Amino acid sequence: MIRLDGKIASQSVKQSLKIEVDNLLAAGKRPPHLAAVLVGSNGASETYVASKVKTCEALGFASTLIRLPENISQDELVSKVQELNRNEEIDGILVQLPLPKHINESAIIEAIDASKDVDGFHPISAGRLTLGLPTFIPATPYGIQLMLEHFQISTSGKHAVVIGRSNIVGRPMSILLSQNHAYGNATVTVCHSKTPNLEEICKSADILVAALGKPGFVKKDMVKPGAVVIDVGITRMDDSAHPKGYKIVGDVDFDEVAPISSAITPVPGGVGLMTIAGLMKNTLLAYQNRTTAS
Ligand code: NAD
Repeated sequence: MIRLDGKIASQSVKQSLKIEVDNLLAAGKRPPHLAAVLVGSNGASETYVASKVKTCEALGFASTLIRLPENISQDELVSKVQELNRNEEIDGILVQLPLPKHINESAIIEAIDASKDVDGFHPISAGRLTLGLPTFIPATPYGIQLMLEHFQISTSGKHAVVIGRSNIVGRPMSILLSQNHAYGNATVTVCHSKTPNLEEICKSADILVAALGKPGFVKKDMVKPGAVVIDVGITRMDDSAHPKGYKIVGDVDFDEVAPISSAITPVPGGVGLMTIAGLMKNTLLAYQNRTTAS
């Protein structure tokens, strides 16, 4: 069984990004610049944004963190995004989700200039991805693709089952796996909350991607022996034994499933780290697109 270690794979991606940024700086150019917008003070969002900013610093990217109050209006948030769109110094914009309930997330995503949409959530990015055109791939599926590449896990001709059809993980993952490229060319089944015979379908998967947000959902009897198992789930569960008072749990029952899989991602330490690597690659791409266009 290969442990698909996100620390190792993300380190490799980040090292090559750092070399590219070092080369830019050595040539007297400015670094790529990511702006992260954080609305309110959701604990998990604070952690995600902090690690994105920290990764920017470690790789030599510039970053700007914009903190906005929980009660900001939708119009004010759109104006803030438009201001970042106009700022020539900024290459990539991410608005950390989820947003407070009174704000329509789609309206905010659509307000981001598609050329700076490093999360890959804008309809233009999603449309281009579907058509197989160059674009920003949503960071989590992109990170999973980078992980498959790092560990040279072949997907061609395999049956891939993706549990979850969200716009940010399940659906783009299923599109990537089915497309005609290296680490694609799989025959893909997308499962969701209305799928009957889920266990049976999962059991037929050579590659199983679990992205439903239900801790420990995938058990041993749902997995074909020798399958590759990618666990996207991240759920915080109370744990008084842990210094932070909670632990992070994935969608796969790792202890049961790992022994029968050929390769599996741990949680934490798997896909989450790759997501940040994907975001950084998208930010460098946005920079390259903008600086070569001007
Ligand atoms: P979501 O709630 O938007 O979507 C969940 C999907 O799972 C839905 O399409 C739903 O139909 C499906 N689903 C729910 N219950 C199901 C069931 N019983 N059987 C089959 N399908 C079911 O969630 P999301 O944003 O796609 O995130 C999924 C999980 O991945 C969450 O735990 C989230 O925290 C995690 N996540 C992790 C990363 C990362 O970097 N590792 C990034 C994004 C999301």
